[in-house]
Amino acid sequence: MEGCIFCKIIKGEIPSTRIYEDEKVYAFADINPILEGHTLIIPKRHSENLWEIPEADLSAIHAASKKVAGAMKKGLGADGVACVQLNGKSVNQVVMHYHFHLIPHQPGGPDLPMTAWKLMPGDMDKIKANAEKISRAL
Ligand code: AMP
Ligand code: ZN
Repeated sequence: MEGCIFCKIIKGEIPSTRIYEDEKVYAFADINPILEGHTLIIPKRHSENLWEIPEADLSAIHAASKKVAGAMKKGLGADGVACVQLNGKSVNQVVMHYHFHLIPHQPGGPDLPMTAWKLMPGDMDKIKANAEKISRAL
């Protein structure tokens, strides 16, 4: 898509540090790593978000994420990998080309703030009402 920086990365118009590639996906190093080894996996065909991406591309991204997460364990000695994916400006999606973050954690390394949220028991009536709304919309 015109003007999309990740489409430009796929075309080689913007440099990137390649980690993995197949027919449908491209994985490369995030240039603002949250932790060392932070990697992005993107579909080669432009889709903006989870609502738009075709299932075949989504499956390819998940298959690739399994490979890359394995390589993070083997190659970096990661003892955990956080997978994060944002949809919409309201949840801080900055680049509007679907991307799947893989963030490896090193033994003894710093915690990821986003994975250390505090558990607070919810209101079961609200939990059930929301579950029903989602379920009915499927
Ligand atoms: P978000 O849209 O909030 O999920 O995050 C976009 C991510 O893309 C951020 O982690 C950026 O550091 C990353 N990013 C933006 N431009 C580039 C680039 N040219 N090469 C690698 N990573 C990038
Ligand atoms: Zn794009």
